Amino acid sequence: ALDARGISAWFGGRKVLSRVSLEMPAGRVTALIGPSGCGKSTFLRILNRMHELIPGAELAGEVLLDGEDIYARGRRLTDARRRIGMVFQKPNPFPAMSVYDNVTAGLKLTGVRASGAVKDDLVEECLSKAGLWKEVRDRLRQPGGALSGGQQQRLCIARSLAVRPRILLMDEPCSALDPTSTRRIEETIRDLAEEVTIVIVTHNMQQAARVSDQCAFFLAEQGTPGRIVEHGPTPAMFSAPSDRRTADYVEGRF
Ligand code: ATP
Ligand code: MG
Repeated sequence: ALDARGISAWFGGRKVLSRVSLEMPAGRVTALIGPSGCGKSTFLRILNRMHELIPGAELAGEVLLDGEDIYARGRRLTDARRRIGMVFQKPNPFPAMSVYDNVTAGLKLTGVRASGAVKDDLVEECLSKAGLWKEVRDRLRQPGGALSGGQQQRLCIARSLAVRPRILLMDEPCSALDPTSTRRIEETIRDLAEEVTIVIVTHNMQQAARVSDQCAFFLAEQGTPGRIVEHGPTPAMFSAPSDRRTADYVEGRF
């Protein structure tokens, strides 16, 4: 499980998140929803220690991964990366690298060693979990950039799975994709949720309703820092939100 406690964040002294706390239980899909600029991507990056790489970024609070603070002194960045994978809005495979090498690149980036048959098995396993194996089993030596957009995004999911992360963070993973690819990725998310804890940012309320178990609604009102207005089980958030602003947002009145 991932547990964010009292997270505040600043960029160049400007506060963009204020005391955000959220538990993301193991084996569940958590959706982060809310209007543009309310800090969803910032919060997601904080969960993976990507935030600290941005010049001028500051942070308060803690992020517990199975009880241990990933920001604690002495904890290494690669340690967090190995356990927490990330998939972005725009599919970003290494375009000139083969499909096969794209998957194993995840291992290299985090310093995990594997060879020969072990790698072959891992590539098949990860591509299968990402719902791509059948489409690319005969194209493993082709460049990643030769795949369709939806296939490239599933390749990126496969790459992030190669290190066997416990957490997978996804920032609007389907917003650049067609409806069919979107459906495939939603199915993949549901299948993966049994073994990986998933946090997904989405602007698509139908998608949030389809894939998530719980939702957190972020809002930054009138220049104030973003915070969570309401969170809870997905069905309740959509059918009986307790906050007027949540209801307005999920029903598209924002
Ligand atoms: P969207 O739905 O449009 O993706 P978001 O909810 O993901 O929005 P963020 O990208 O987290 O919002 O941005 C939150 C706030 O932080 C915004 O005011 C944004 O301008 C600011 N911000 C984000 N990244 C940076 C950065 N690298 N430097 C300075 N300010 C930033
Ligand atoms: Mg964003």
